[in-house]
Amino acid sequence: MKRNLIDKELRDKRAVVAGMAATGMAAAEFLSQQGATVIVSEIKTEDLLGDYPRRLRSLNVALEMGQHSAQTFDSAALIVLSPGVDPAALPLAQAQAKGIPIVSEVELASWFLTPPLIAITGTNGKSTTTALIGHLLLSWGKKVFVGGNIGTPLTTYLLRDDDADYIVAEISSFQLEAIATFRPFISLLLNVGEDHLSRHPTLAAYAAAKARIFQNQGVQDWAVLNHDDMIVRSLIPPIKAQLLLFSREQQGGDLGVWFEAPGTVVYKGKGQGSKKERFSLARVKIKGMHNVENIMAAVGAARICGMPSAVIQDALDTFAGLEHRLELVGEWHGVSVYNDSKATNVASALTALQSLDSPIILLAGGRDKGGSYAPLRGVMKERVKALILMGEAKEKMRAAFQDLLPVYLVAGMEEGVRLAWNIAQGGEAILLSPACSSFDMFHDYEDRGRTFKEIVRRVSGGTG
Ligand code: ADP
Repeated sequence: MKRNLIDKELRDKRAVVAGMAATGMAAAEFLSQQGATVIVSEIKTEDLLGDYPRRLRSLNVALEMGQHSAQTFDSAALIVLSPGVDPAALPLAQAQAKGIPIVSEVELASWFLTPPLIAITGTNGKSTTTALIGHLLLSWGKKVFVGGNIGTPLTTYLLRDDDADYIVAEISSFQLEAIATFRPFISLLLNVGEDHLSRHPTLAAYAAAKARIFQNQGVQDWAVLNHDDMIVRSLIPPIKAQLLLFSREQQGGDLGVWFEAPGTVVYKGKGQGSKKERFSLARVKIKGMHNVENIMAAVGAARICGMPSAVIQDALDTFAGLEHRLELVGEWHGVSVYNDSKATNVASALTALQSLDSPIILLAGGRDKGGSYAPLRGVMKERVKALILMGEAKEKMRAAFQDLLPVYLVAGMEEGVRLAWNIAQGGEAILLSPACSSFDMFHDYEDRGRTFKEIVRRVSGGTG
C-alpha cells in the first residue's frame, strides 16, 4: 500500500539531503543528475567539511552549514537522510505533518537499482558477511557491486556506467528506519544484540528496525536468518519471503544450512530430491564460531543465487577476512597480537574472547555505549589474564571486572601496548577488542586499529 504513496520522480523536485559526508555527497550528486533542485544541510561548519562544500557547489548544489533549519526541511518535497545523521536532531516535525517523504539514502538508491539486491543486516558480522558474499559471487565470475554501510554508498553505483549482476549491500538499522519500498531479493539478518542503545530506546525498537529489511519482500524473495538467535526467530511470523534458516546449534529439520563439528558446513536445498552439500572449514582463514555463522549465511545466499558448491568451497578458502576484525597483526616471541578494533560493543568483544584459545591480555575501553558489561564477566574470568583499560569507559569497566582479575588503567594506547608487552609471555595473546566506540580518543575504529598496529610494531621492534 505504502509503495504507491511515494512519488519517485525527481525532476525539478526540491530535495534536501541531511548530512554532508561520503553518502550525502553521493546522494546529492545523484539527485542533481536526476534534475532535482538539491540542498545539503549539515550541522558542522564549513571549516570542518574538507573538500565536500567545493565539490557540491561545483554541482550546483545549495548548502546549509552550521545548522539544520526548519525552513529548509519544511520546504522540501523529499528529504534524504545520511546514515550518520540522527533524525531526532533534525527539525522534521513540520515535514512529517505535511507528509513529506523522509527516506534513507539506501531507500532512494533502491528506487533505481535494477540488479538483484542482497542486503545484509544484524548487530555484528555485517561487514564480514557482506565482503564474503561479494567475494563468493566475484569468484563465480559475476560482476558485483559491494557497498552500503561497508564503504561505497549505493547511490554511487547509480552514478557509474557499468552494470553489476548483483548488488551486495551492508545495511544498518538506522538506514532501515527510514525505508518505504526498499525490497531486497535476499535479506540476511545475522543476529540482534544489545548495541546502539543510546539511539534506539529499547531492544524491541532496535529489533523492529532490523526486521524492516523483510517488510516489502514477497514470495519470490528470500530471507536468510539465524535460527539460534531468539530475537531473530521472533521476527519470522510476518515474513512473506521464502525462509532459509541457518544454525550452529541444531542440524537438519527445517534448516537450510547448519554446522557439523569439528569443521563442516552443510547446505540442504528445499526441493524433494535435494542432496546435502558439504563445505569444509579446514582451509578457511577467518577464525572463530562467529565467522562460521557468517559463512553459513553467505553460503545460503550464494546457493540461492545458484552458485555451484565446488566454486563456493574454493572461494571460501581464499577469503582473507577484513582488517580490524580479529586481525592477526603478528607473532613475536610466541606472543600473538590481534587487532579487533571493530569490536565496538560487548557482543563482538565477547565473540573475540571466545575465539582465541590462549590466555589473553585484553586492551579495552573507549566511549561507553550505555549497556552493561556483565555479559563479559564469565569469559573475562576464564580466559583473560590481565585487563588494560583506556578511554572514557575505563572506570565503569574497572568496576565491572576488578573482583575477577588484575585490571590496569592507562592514559592511552601507547601506554596500554607497552604494559601488555610487559605482562605477556610466550603462548599468550595480546588482543585489542574494546567493547566500546572509539570516538573519545580516535577519529574512528580504523584509526584506533591502525594506531594500535603501528605501536605494536614499534614496541615489538619488527613486522612479526
Ligand atoms: P559489523 O559490520 O556488523 O560491525 P563486522 O563483520 O565488521 O560486523 O565484525 C565486527 C565485530 O563483530 C568483529 O570484530 C567480530 O569480532 C564480531 N563479529 C563478527 N561476526 C559476528 C557474528 N556473526 N556474531 C557475533 N559477533 C561477530
